Amino acid sequence: MKKSEVSLLLATAAAYDRRTSGDADVKSWHAAIGDLDSFDDANQAVIDHYAFSTEWLKPAHVRAGVRRIRAARLANVDRALPAADPDARDYTQALREQIKAVADGRQVRLALASGGRAATGPTAEYAAARGADYARRRAALSVACPVAACAQPQGRACRVIGGGRRPVPEGYHQPRLEAARAALNADVPAPAEEPAQPPVDTAAAPAAPALPPYCGRCHAETRTRMRLAGEELHRVPCPACHPQTIS
Ligand SMILES: [Zn+2]
Ligand SMILES: [Zn+2]
Repeated sequence: MKKSEVSLLLATAAAYDRRTSGDADVKSWHAAIGDLDSFDDANQAVIDHYAFSTEWLKPAHVRAGVRRIRAARLANVDRALPAADPDARDYTQALREQIKAVADGRQVRLALASGGRAATGPTAEYAAARGADYARRRAALSVACPVAACAQPQGRACRVIGGGRRPVPEGYHQPRLEAARAALNADVPAPAEEPAQPPVDTAAAPAAPALPPYCGRCHAETRTRMRLAGEELHRVPCPACHPQTIS
C-alpha cells in the first residue's frame, strides 16, 4: 500500500473511533503494514474489526484481518488446483501463481466454485512436454462426454463408470475424443494406437491399490489439500482419502 492508501485506511478507522491522524501516524502505520498489497482487503479488515470489536484498532489487527480475508478465499482452493499435470516441471509455479490469484480475490469464480478448474491454459513448456497426449486430452475435455453413464461436463475429466468419482486414467472416454475431433474439424491428433499393455511383473510390481473413496473435499485427481503454514501454502496428502494416509 502507498502512504496515500494508508491515510485513507486511517480515515476509515476514524469514522469508527474518531481518531485524528497526522503525517507521523501515516508514516508509522505505513512502516507497520505498508507491505500489505491490497488496500481493499486492508480497508475491509478495518471495517470487519469494528463490526466485531470495541478494541482500539492497531496495525496488527489489520494484518490479522487481511490474513483471514485471504484465508477465506482460499477455503476452496483444494478443489481449484491448476489443470496442469502435477508431474509437470512447472506445475509448482502454476500452482503458486494460481493460489496467489485466488487469495488476492482475482479469481473469484474459482474461489467460490466448488471444484472449479483453472480457466487458463497450460504454459507452452508444459504443452510441448506433453505433446499429442496432452493435446488429445485438452481437446476431449473441451466438450462434454457423450457417454451417457459418464456425461461429465466440459472441462471435467471423465469418471470411471461405476467407479464413484474416480477419474479414468487418460482423463476421457474415447467417444469424447471422437466428438471433440468432429467438433474441432479433426484439428486434434488422432486417437493413439491402443497402448500396449505394459508388461506386468507381478512379483516385482504389485498392482496399484484401488483409490479409497473420494472424500469430496480435496482435489479429486491428486487427492491433496492445501495447508497454510505461516505464509506458505503446501500441498499435502488428503488426510481423508489419499492412498498413503488410508491404508
Ligand atoms: Zn466420459
Ligand atoms: Zn480427500
